[in-house]
Amino acid sequence: MSTAPALTTIDSAQLQVLENVVPGPSENVALADSLGRVLSTPVICDLDYPPFDKAMMDGYAVRSADLSAAGSGDRSLRVAGQIAAGTEARHVLGAGQATQINTGAPVPDGADAVVRVEDTELSGDGSTVTVKTAVSPQQHIDPRARYVSAGTEVLEAGTRMGPAQITAAAAAGADTVAVYAKPRVAILATGDELVPFTQRPTGARIRNSNGIMLQSLVSECGAEPIDLGMAGDDKDLLTERIRQTHGFESVGFADVLCITGGISVGAFDYVPEVLESCGVRIVFRKVAIKPGKPALFGIGPSGTLVFGLPGNPVSGYVVFRLLVGPALEARQGRAGRLPTAISARLMGHCKATTDRQSYWPVRVHSDSEGTLRAERLAWAGSGDPFGFCRANALMVRQPHSPAAEPGDVVGVIPLELL
Ligand code: AMP
Ligand code: MG
Repeated sequence: MSTAPALTTIDSAQLQVLENVVPGPSENVALADSLGRVLSTPVICDLDYPPFDKAMMDGYAVRSADLSAAGSGDRSLRVAGQIAAGTEARHVLGAGQATQINTGAPVPDGADAVVRVEDTELSGDGSTVTVKTAVSPQQHIDPRARYVSAGTEVLEAGTRMGPAQITAAAAAGADTVAVYAKPRVAILATGDELVPFTQRPTGARIRNSNGIMLQSLVSECGAEPIDLGMAGDDKDLLTERIRQTHGFESVGFADVLCITGGISVGAFDYVPEVLESCGVRIVFRKVAIKPGKPALFGIGPSGTLVFGLPGNPVSGYVVFRLLVGPALEARQGRAGRLPTAISARLMGHCKATTDRQSYWPVRVHSDSEGTLRAERLAWAGSGDPFGFCRANALMVRQPHSPAAEPGDVVGVIPLELL
């Protein structure tokens, strides 16, 4: 075993992880398959948008000069033609004329304004239309290239594709996009006590809930989980699993390996020494956070990023969010995307912290005055996934913070959209 390692601060641990991550390769995917992926190349709009002067209302295309004297003179125009959306305007609008036009249709040459149908009155025979409001040039027209002109970068590299970004890419003419390859993350749960979560445990056994937790966290980060199942607390078996399955020998099988359990100081916590014997260079083993003090990071012989996470589910979750998530972001070209806290007012009490940065599950909501409130949750500690699953944020408190009272401002890291 290595000598007792010092505690690394969370800031330093995050820096040490990020120093060892380079962006992965990129690939082209169909835009329809790009949800949740991260652009490795910007998206450029291939045409002016809108591509033509476009009517924004149903009504009449007019020449504003014909109607500039609001409320005075003859405000009747001769109706000359009709332009539907998708139809090109064939005629030039002459003096004293109006053209029926629909939202999205091209404004004909000669016209410089659109009057809403609600502001007009059509004669009984449909030959003339009376305009009942003042008309100013360009009203209700989106001129060509108003939003962007051809060649404009509309999505920058590093953008994660959501519905709004996919919409913009489609409008810009990107039927495929270049994205970072999904980091491949192998997940191994260790512990003699584990049974698959699909089974009912008996005696001293418990369900392996961490395996599927990590798979979900990995997927949420836009990466691809590779389930390596479970291994017992046995040096030889662990060595075999680690050597055979995660790619130290078959280079490139996984970019990242996450192992849960067995990394602390218990008699059967063999993971650190087995990793070292497999050639992993351990960068740190303990981080000054609570929960999650045993948190290992190392580099495998072929560059695999190796994370050892504590077996307690909430500890593992917290360590993933603080260390593994940022590594997966960086691998997808988003270095420096670290979880950051926003301010909320505490509901309830919170005891003073120790020498470790501390995290508590909280439920954050906005009150009627618009203040964010962080509600403490009934939670039995790092082994309790049930109290934790109601949380939508982690309250974070610095080491050596005094006890906090109701109304105190505290930092919270959102875990989902608040
Ligand atoms: P360890 O990190 O191996 O010392 O385990 C710490 C605690 O987490 C123990 O109570 C384990 O039973 C529990 N634990 C370990 N692995 C898992 C897992 N895969 N799923 C749920 N609980 C686990
Ligand atoms: Mg264990």
